[in-house]
Amino acid sequence: MITIKNLSVSYQQQLALEPLSLDIPGPSITGIIGPNGAGKSTLLKGMLDIIGHQGQTLLDGQPLERSLNRVAYVEQKINIDYHFPIKVKECVSLGLYPNIRLFRRFRQADWDKVMEALRIVGLADYADRQISQLSGGQFQRILIARCLVQEADCIFLDEPFVGIDSVSEDIIMDTLRSLKEAGKTILIVHHDLSKVTAYFDHILLLNKKLIAFGPTENTFTRENLQETYGSQLFMNGGA
Ligand code: ADP
Ligand code: MG
Repeated sequence: MITIKNLSVSYQQQLALEPLSLDIPGPSITGIIGPNGAGKSTLLKGMLDIIGHQGQTLLDGQPLERSLNRVAYVEQKINIDYHFPIKVKECVSLGLYPNIRLFRRFRQADWDKVMEALRIVGLADYADRQISQLSGGQFQRILIARCLVQEADCIFLDEPFVGIDSVSEDIIMDTLRSLKEAGKTILIVHHDLSKVTAYFDHILLLNKKLIAFGPTENTFTRENLQETYGSQLFMNGGA
């Protein structure tokens, strides 16, 4: 269970996210939905204590910032450097670092875990390639493989499906569903309204403040979307 208590964020004294409180039960897949600039990325970063904030986030009753090894986080793509010279298997292996004592050499069992994760996302054959040689969708699958080896209890993904092919999107979604079955709590910032009912157990509608949170079937309503998107709703094709 993730508990958000009066979390708010300001940038240069300007409130970007009004105080919000809610409980996200797990295992589950929750969509964080709202227009550009709504504070979706800000919410994840505030929860993770990456940026200054008021309020607190708890994971099973403990402050999340003291359990960061229990959370895998993939930030929004704009902030990731694809040109960094690193092989696919090395990139995935970075997920193991929280669990490996400093200076201990990787063992065969560690590389086995990396290869198993690559197999799950359908990229075992790419293990020795440079990440710069991958398509956007393949790279996003690599980041999901890194979450798999991290064996975290919570997975936070910021707009993982933007600009990727539908095969990659389906593989990622199937992987996330299996992770949920294995007991994980998953938060996904998302803005394609057409997939919401297929993807999420709960949705959190945001526009600089919490508009609504709850099970998708009774929260993903025209009324709530209107409040979240205002006149932009019709430009996006509606609900
Ligand atoms: P979303 O992810 O929903 O598109 P963000 O959380 O990125 O929105 O941003 C919310 C608001 O906060 C936007 O108005 C954005 O311009 C502003 N903002 C985000 N990051 C910063 C920052 N580092 N400094 C100042 N303002 C920021
Ligand atoms: Mg964002």
